[in-house]
Amino acid sequence: MSSLSLASSASITIPTGPVTPPEPPSVEGQRLTASTLKPTFETLGPSSSSTRVSCFWESSVGERLWDRYSNATSWNYTPPTFTHSIAQSQISGGGHGVFATQDIDAGEVVIEERSLLVTFGFTPERRDRELEERILAGMSVEGRKAFLSLGNAFESSEGKVFGRVLTNGIGIGTLEGSKMEGGYVAVAEHIARVNHSCRPATSWRFDSTNFTLQLRALQPITSGSEITTSYIDILLPSSSRQSELRRKYGFTCSCTACTLPPASRELKYSDMSRSLLKTWAKNNGYDVHEKELRAWVSRASSMDGKDREKEDMKMIDRYLNMARTMEREQTWPADVWTRVLQPLVKVYCALGDKENAILWARVAEHLAKVATGHDEGWSKVAENPERSDWWGLVF
Ligand SMILES: [Zn+2]
Repeated sequence: MSSLSLASSASITIPTGPVTPPEPPSVEGQRLTASTLKPTFETLGPSSSSTRVSCFWESSVGERLWDRYSNATSWNYTPPTFTHSIAQSQISGGGHGVFATQDIDAGEVVIEERSLLVTFGFTPERRDRELEERILAGMSVEGRKAFLSLGNAFESSEGKVFGRVLTNGIGIGTLEGSKMEGGYVAVAEHIARVNHSCRPATSWRFDSTNFTLQLRALQPITSGSEITTSYIDILLPSSSRQSELRRKYGFTCSCTACTLPPASRELKYSDMSRSLLKTWAKNNGYDVHEKELRAWVSRASSMDGKDREKEDMKMIDRYLNMARTMEREQTWPADVWTRVLQPLVKVYCALGDKENAILWARVAEHLAKVATGHDEGWSKVAENPERSDWWGLVF
């Protein structure tokens, strides 16, 4: 009988969480075509002065989302919350950015605000003046003013509403209950002004119970530094990131990852690291790790001395290298870290290495809170790794 049977006496399961990582922003310039959808649109959702979110959904595909979301508990309008002092300021090379004017700890909420508009992540074929006015009418007077004050990189081609959606929208993925293929987009006044970085200081999250967007610090932000977030898939190589940002948003990124000297070893290393993380997320599901870890546990149990040490180190290195790669690149995509930190914590627990099990469970706890607002079960593991179902499997 292998030592795997120890699992049955433990009470804490090492989580995979967050189970469904939030989708990356995906505001594509694609169009609805009249051949696939009838050009009948309906503006649904709260539009009284107490709620302020304009929601624009496609009725001909049977989107009855308002039925679902009208029961949201907190539709009363709440002004944006700035947990910390932040300021908008000019950045070098023109344009504006949002800066911290006091220190912000990792994991803390930086901005929380109700969306001004929630709609699809593409421009509908029919976008005449009347439709634009109906969408704008769904906003309060202040909301409309805030929306129209946002930048518009596509005014001439997409108009005053959808041009701003494409310029400022955050891809929030599919709304629960939606029949639409492709995702929805939320536009919020202050979060829209936060600039992009491929080493983002914050991560955003959409709460569908009240249509608010929340920006949380991924890492400590010191007073005076710029608050940034990511608009695109930051695991792409730098040249692809630059061309995507130019195409979609019309700017060139000058973050520390993008300004590494061209053709330098550092830039190649950064691109290679990100590609490694991307491949990892694609090829390594939880089941793959589970199989590998279980195989290691049964192998290691029958080994000793140098051979055993080598086996254990191989297992630690496999996951620790990926965690260190994310640390070095200052990027923690949810679909990658969950697939790295879960097995890493399992390895340390199996070896009875309390210090490292706690260390990485705390990192997972912090990242889970940033991604979902909850610890997703990681706090319990960090507090009591000895009670996890992997503890001491290869003592
Ligand atoms: Zn960049």
